[in-house]
Amino acid sequence: MTNRNEEIDTLAVHAGRDDLVALGTHALPIDLSSTNPLPDIERGGDSYEALATGGHPDPAGGFVYQRLWNPTVARFEQALAALEHGEAAVAFGSGMAATTAAILAMAADGKRHVVAVRPLYGGTDHLLGTGLLGTQVTFAEAHEVAEAIRPDTGLVVIESPANPTLELVDIRAVADAAGDVPLLVDNTFATPVLQNPLDLGAAMSLHSATKYIGGHGDVIGGVIACSEEIAVKLRSTRAITGALMHPLGAYLCHRGLQTLPLRMRAQQASAIELADWLAEQSAVKAVHFPGRGDAASPLIGTQMRGPGAMIAIELAGGYAAASTVAAAVRLFTHAVSLGGVDSLIQHPAALTHRPVPPEARPAADVLRLSVGLEAVDDLKADLAQAFAQA
Ligand SMILES: *Cc1c(COP(=O)(O)O)cnc(C)c1O
Repeated sequence: MTNRNEEIDTLAVHAGRDDLVALGTHALPIDLSSTNPLPDIERGGDSYEALATGGHPDPAGGFVYQRLWNPTVARFEQALAALEHGEAAVAFGSGMAATTAAILAMAADGKRHVVAVRPLYGGTDHLLGTGLLGTQVTFAEAHEVAEAIRPDTGLVVIESPANPTLELVDIRAVADAAGDVPLLVDNTFATPVLQNPLDLGAAMSLHSATKYIGGHGDVIGGVIACSEEIAVKLRSTRAITGALMHPLGAYLCHRGLQTLPLRMRAQQASAIELADWLAEQSAVKAVHFPGRGDAASPLIGTQMRGPGAMIAIELAGGYAAASTVAAAVRLFTHAVSLGGVDSLIQHPAALTHRPVPPEARPAADVLRLSVGLEAVDDLKADLAQAFAQA
């Protein structure tokens, strides 16, 4: 039985596995059942009712249907909740499905206004900006959140570190400014290894599990850690909209958690070294890395236990140089996404942040690096040969 006071390295290995011994299995079982046998109409119906309204299955009534509940997904949720210091977690088919459910669930009481602090992940910015879900958005600076809140505000959304500039937002300050309005923090870049937004006053900590949690570039998923009260709303929204994480994805994400602390620390150590090296390269005009010369750096060591493993660089040679470097790397893969064991490089303005309106889009000379587990000297050598071509 895992004890929540254990350290994250222990929780990462053991959380969400409490029932395995009783099942007589050591590895996580993957239950792919789309439907489940019902004991009788009455108990099956009661379980259906409990699940459709966001509750837990009645053990006597079964899981009913995969869109409502899946034990492999539930184990991953239990583990992620433990790592994020939440009462519960709710897992989705992608990070964007998780964001969608959070917006819909919080807007359900007629509170259709969202306050969001830019920069945000391009897809999140796009979803809020288009009003596709019937919400209105006010984009504000972090210090303007209190003023931007209206009687019909149902949600405040921030990301820290932000994508792709790696700026830090003071989570506790925004949570205070938000007052009773729930604050959602996109914690994808920091992971629970480096930051626990729920401890700082956030109502929801969201991850694109596609990134560090899965960690191997082979799964798409999203998850939100929160209180049980919010989890009920998220699960019912998930059941209605059909956004459940696939059990195979949950298996991969849960397995990914076991090495998350180790991977995060190793990738971070390389990123720290690489950021210093990048700052000395003539091809590089500026390095953006949490805690590096920005006003928010005191948040490193307090809000965030380390800077993480994402770096953004501005190329001295502008867009042309960015384009050459992205095409010239050999060890880095030129690809979107991040947080895997292998290093990636991409151009946010053309790709991840393409849906963002021009005034909020990253500059054309910026490349974003996701630092993997390769030897850091090999990563430097790869970038050096790519810079030499630019
Ligand atoms: C990738 C990403 C998302 C979206 O997640 P998907 O799993 O691609 O849907 C949201 N936020 C951040 C910070 C991301 O990097």
